[in-house]
This record gives sequence, C-alpha cells and structure tokens, in this order.
Amino acid sequence: MANRYWCGECSFKTPWLGESEGLRRQIEHYADRHPGTPPGGQVETRRRGSAVAHGCLRLTAVALTLLVVVAACHR
Ligand SMILES: [Zn+2]
Repeated sequence: MANRYWCGECSFKTPWLGESEGLRRQIEHYADRHPGTPPGGQVETRRRGSAVAHGCLRLTAVALTLLVVVAACHR
C-alpha cells in the first residue's frame, strides 16, 4: 500500500511512498516552504489499483505528533 501526501498550502505532492516516509517528506516540505504552518492537506492512499483520498484529520494528528518528534531531534 502506498500513500501520496498533498500539501494544503500549494500544489506540492509527494511521490507514492510508504506512510512514514511520505509523512516525513510532507513535514520536510512544510518546514522548508511553509515554516510556521502546521502540516495539513490530504493523504491519498493507493490500494489494489484504486486511489482514495481521505480527510485531513488523521494526517494532521499524525503529522503534528511527528513534527514534535522531528523538532525535538533537531535541537
Ligand atoms: Zn506546500
């Protein structure tokens, strides 16, 4: 299963990646391009050939958790 993360602020989207790798790219994109903006947007999941876009709530929750971890690692 692969996930593609879409930026909520611009037209950026990650390549199809595993969940943790995709999230990391999304967070890095936000840190680079939209500093100070909490990561959001949408995650698109590809499963058995079909793509489904889901809401941003889960992504935001996971991303915020990861952001804290990433921020802690950079200090
Ligand atoms: Zn962006």
